[in-house]
Amino acid sequence: MNSKSIASCGLICDLCLGAQRKKNRCVGCNATGYKPFHCNKCSIRYCSEKNGNYDLLCNECNKYPCKRLKTLDKRYRVKYGESLVENFALLKELGMDEFIRMMIEKWQCRNCGELLCAHSNKCLVCGAMNPRFPENNSNA
Ligand SMILES: [Zn+2]
Repeated sequence: MNSKSIASCGLICDLCLGAQRKKNRCVGCNATGYKPFHCNKCSIRYCSEKNGNYDLLCNECNKYPCKRLKTLDKRYRVKYGESLVENFALLKELGMDEFIRMMIEKWQCRNCGELLCAHSNKCLVCGAMNPRFPENNSNA
């Protein structure tokens, strides 16, 4: 995980199922190489507000947070227990290096030490429970 791991929308590519699966592994939003079809035409990464500067993060846009991002943020909060808006707030508060350090600490599997997948209720490496996944959280 590094500064290039942060997708335009504020998600961390390393935590994505697309980047962790064995087959057709995605190189990440900011890298060149294989990406799933829908990612090549992502309406957030390739947003017209960016005027062609597609590496910009959403929080660097003067329309931030726009309706599209807020809708995605809500979907992620409900489904995966992860907030994009919160990620951007932390990034701003902590700075890039500290933010990345915190994300690694937050998402490290307590059983095997690899990064958990935010889209899965289990660690894809060792099968241990992902404690951040809403359906694993008894209080949810
Ligand atoms: Zn694990």
